[in-house]
Amino acid sequence: MKEMTEHRMTRQRQVILNVIRESSGHPTASEIYEMARKSLPRISLGTVYRNLQALSESGMVRTLKMGGSKRHFDRNISRHNHILCTCCGRVDDVGYDLNADVEKTVGRISGYEVTGHRLAFTGVCPRCKNRK
Ligand SMILES: [Zn+2]
Ligand SMILES: [Zn+2]
Repeated sequence: MKEMTEHRMTRQRQVILNVIRESSGHPTASEIYEMARKSLPRISLGTVYRNLQALSESGMVRTLKMGGSKRHFDRNISRHNHILCTCCGRVDDVGYDLNADVEKTVGRISGYEVTGHRLAFTGVCPRCKNRK
C-alpha cells in the first residue's frame, strides 16, 4: 500500500475525495466527475479516473465492482455488503453484517483457509418499485 497523507495530496485529489465523502450514496466515476467540475471546471474525466485509482489503491476509498459496467466508489472502507438496483443502477448498503459467519462456515466445510469472498445483492430499489 502506498503512503499517502491528506495534506500531501494535490488539490484535484482532495476535491475528488471530498466529493466521495460528502456523497450520501455510492457514486460512479461520471457522477464524481460532474460534482468535481463544480469546484474544478477544467478537470478532465481521465484525471478523475486516475485520482480514483490512486485513492482506491491507498485505501482511502473503496471501489465496488457490482457486476455491471460501472464502478461505484464508497467512502466507507470498512467491511459491509451492497445491493444494486437493476432498474436505475443505484447501490445501497445492506445494513446487516453476514460476512464473519460466512467465512468461518465456508472454511469449516471446505477445509480451506478462507482469505476473502465477494457477496453482493441485486434487486429493485424502493424508488423504482413505487414507480411501477
Ligand atoms: Zn432503482
Ligand atoms: Zn457501501
